[in-house]
Amino acid sequence: MSRFDLQLASLLKARFPLIYIPTWEEERVLEVIKGLVKDARRIRTPRKMFVWTATEGIRGEGMSGSEETRPPLKALEWIRKFQEPSVFVLCDFHVYFGAGSARPDHLLIRKLRDLAAELKRSVSPKSIIFVSPLTVLPDELRKDVTLLDFALPTFEDILALLTDMVRVNSKSGRITISLTEEDKERLAKAALGLTLKEAENAFARAMAQTGRLTADEVDVIHEEKRQIIQKTGILEFVSSNLDMNDVGGLENLKRWLKKRSNSWLESARRYGLPAPKGVLITGVPGCGKSLIAKSISAMWHLPLLRMDLGRIFHGIVGSSEENMRQSIRTAEAIAPCVLWIDEIEKGFGGLGIGGDGGVSARVFGTFLTWMQEKTSPVFVVATANNIDRLPPELLRKGRFDEIFFVDLPTHRERKDIFSVHLRKRLQDPKVTGSFQVTEEVLDHLARLTEGFVGAELEQAVIAGLFEAFSEERSVRLDDFEKAIRQMVPLSVTQAEQIRAIREWANVRAVAATAPEDMKDYAPGQGISPTAPVPGEDVRGIRGGRTIDF
Ligand code: ADP
Repeated sequence: MSRFDLQLASLLKARFPLIYIPTWEEERVLEVIKGLVKDARRIRTPRKMFVWTATEGIRGEGMSGSEETRPPLKALEWIRKFQEPSVFVLCDFHVYFGAGSARPDHLLIRKLRDLAAELKRSVSPKSIIFVSPLTVLPDELRKDVTLLDFALPTFEDILALLTDMVRVNSKSGRITISLTEEDKERLAKAALGLTLKEAENAFARAMAQTGRLTADEVDVIHEEKRQIIQKTGILEFVSSNLDMNDVGGLENLKRWLKKRSNSWLESARRYGLPAPKGVLITGVPGCGKSLIAKSISAMWHLPLLRMDLGRIFHGIVGSSEENMRQSIRTAEAIAPCVLWIDEIEKGFGGLGIGGDGGVSARVFGTFLTWMQEKTSPVFVVATANNIDRLPPELLRKGRFDEIFFVDLPTHRERKDIFSVHLRKRLQDPKVTGSFQVTEEVLDHLARLTEGFVGAELEQAVIAGLFEAFSEERSVRLDDFEKAIRQMVPLSVTQAEQIRAIREWANVRAVAATAPEDMKDYAPGQGISPTAPVPGEDVRGIRGGRTIDF
């Protein structure tokens, strides 16, 4: 039995009067409810099931809809009078609750509140279930209504649909179908995250496009899915060819991640390990937080989804709460996957200030509860620049597995970052000439760039190459030296801010830099983590607790 079935069964058993299920999959959810209400083992007392729509009125159990029960108030009155154990599914009631620019129907809302009280006291168990594509709940009903998420179809659901489609289309003979059981599983997996209807359309379109259905159509399904998910405008599939070799330094964080590499496998579960929840990566802007988020997905061979919190709150479709719930559902259906929430402080920072009637607090609450209770293999990587704005609830134990702090790169890390970017760009012998990326060169460049962030080191490499390019010759060490001299690193102009976030990090976060990389902070210059440079004290002190993973 799925988690949804279990939850709904226990709500019905416990006689919750009003249940709200936001979903686009009306047909599928009605099927599930239909199965459940007759099952005495699961809900104790079997119930009669009725479905109400504005077009048909009340139908089911011998009722075939009627003019009389079409008006919603009349339907509620009918429900009130009905005395047998029953479940009433009301479709699209959100329109009366004030969806979009419509005004809420206060009379109806009042009636529902009265009815909720009556249903609780009624002799026979009776419940109302709202099924709507949108979550719209008037504040007056919040205490009486229980929201229940209807999960997207499982792998088994989609596989069954595909098997059915294959059977029908093989008979027609117009489509060439050549699929092993394994191919079918891959196709079904590719469609995870879609509703059943969307999956059906995606398979149908793949067949129509190519006139066949084979393992090669996995790419078509992936592309369909990317587009459908993109259309919701909240989640985005990020395809990135970056991996951990593109990240210089941050060894401590990399080791922590590496240890969890196989935590998605069945063997980890059998070992008794829970799926990791995720990490919060804070720190100085431009030091590789986004870079590492993108690399995790390559390291673990998992798809990467990016959640745009700005769109959750200000998207053109759906309410903020619905958007958050929908994103969570999609991520869970695609799991195992990495869910990257970029600049989380922009969405959840400064909660309680905006007079939005508690909407942000509720969206945040939905996210926190999910993080706390999450057992599905969705690894959340949240990145944040501005830690002042992070709500403390986010930092509490049980939400993220670890909070990391990414500081200005140390000497060793700068060498590493230079190495990454120089090697990446110096591929052509005509560009490289006699210039060689040696230990000495890296050491020299790292010494010149104390206080630079990773993004600035990359810029220095690019600017150096421009010097050489503009003079139509191969690159030289002094091109990079000149580029570096011309730059003013962010740490100079933002010394105060950096100092503040380091202080914050010292008590709350773990350093992403490995302990051994901190030791030789700047060899030969006598600058150590505990001996700040006079006048530029932001440089010497580092943030984050040192833990050796
Ligand atoms: P943040 O998310 O911390 O603001 P980014 O990850 O967006 O920083 O960094 C911007 C760019 O700077 C990266 O795409 C990468 O090219 C370069 N960069 C930053 N830090 C590193 C690093 N540690 N190793 C290699 N490149 C880096």
